Amino acid sequence: MSDDLRRRLRLLEDEYPAQPVVAQQADLREINRLRAELGMPAVDARLREVGTAAPVAEPAAPPPKAVRDHSAARAIYQAYRKKVEELAVHQAYAEQVAAATAGHGRTPVRPLATMGTGGGPLRCDLCGKPIVLEGGASHGVAADAAWARDPRDGWESWILGGLVVEIQTNGTLRIYHGYPAGGARQCCQRASKAHREARAAFVSRMPPGTPALLLAFLTDEFPDRTGREHRALADTIIDVMYSYDPGLGVNRPTPT
Ligand SMILES: [Zn+2]
Repeated sequence: MSDDLRRRLRLLEDEYPAQPVVAQQADLREINRLRAELGMPAVDARLREVGTAAPVAEPAAPPPKAVRDHSAARAIYQAYRKKVEELAVHQAYAEQVAAATAGHGRTPVRPLATMGTGGGPLRCDLCGKPIVLEGGASHGVAADAAWARDPRDGWESWILGGLVVEIQTNGTLRIYHGYPAGGARQCCQRASKAHREARAAFVSRMPPGTPALLLAFLTDEFPDRTGREHRALADTIIDVMYSYDPGLGVNRPTPT
């Protein structure tokens, strides 16, 4: 047990000089925690035991370029890349649906009937039912049923009870019955209340020390980029992986 602690302490202390400052701060806390557990005196930011006199004028050797263990940060980075790639498909789909259903007053019927999962109707993300048409011969009929009966190019219709097409913070699609300014019982209002509550109750599960690990990894992985670029990418990764995520909607793109 204490051998494990000692080994871990030695590793941290060996790697310490080559770490960026932000990683050193996190490591120093861990080093002193381990030392306390081992009954050893604490050290300061230059790894000198607190209360111990500084060595007299030794010529300063350049710190060894330690090989840092990036396995944890690399795994986060790979999961981030995978998530971004998967999301891109859903984001492109959301843009397509939003563009196809856009209209002035009336809404194009074909996308309502055919742009949902597997080429079926777009469904409300709250109640799961299709969108219903208003007016004319198809009054009160779901868009897919109306379209199956009477597929007309360029057909636009009023929507019974309203339709809200929304792009979430992660760029994915949501479809709801209702009007943005309508009553609280409408699907869109109930959904936005649920979203607000979920967001307020959200607690990030980011393990402590993750920003420093990521920054150290990105610095070694992309030596041609600037420190500012490393920090910006680390922030993006943390945002995608650990901030509130509304997930995907019920309508999914058809795989090509
Ligand atoms: Zn609904």
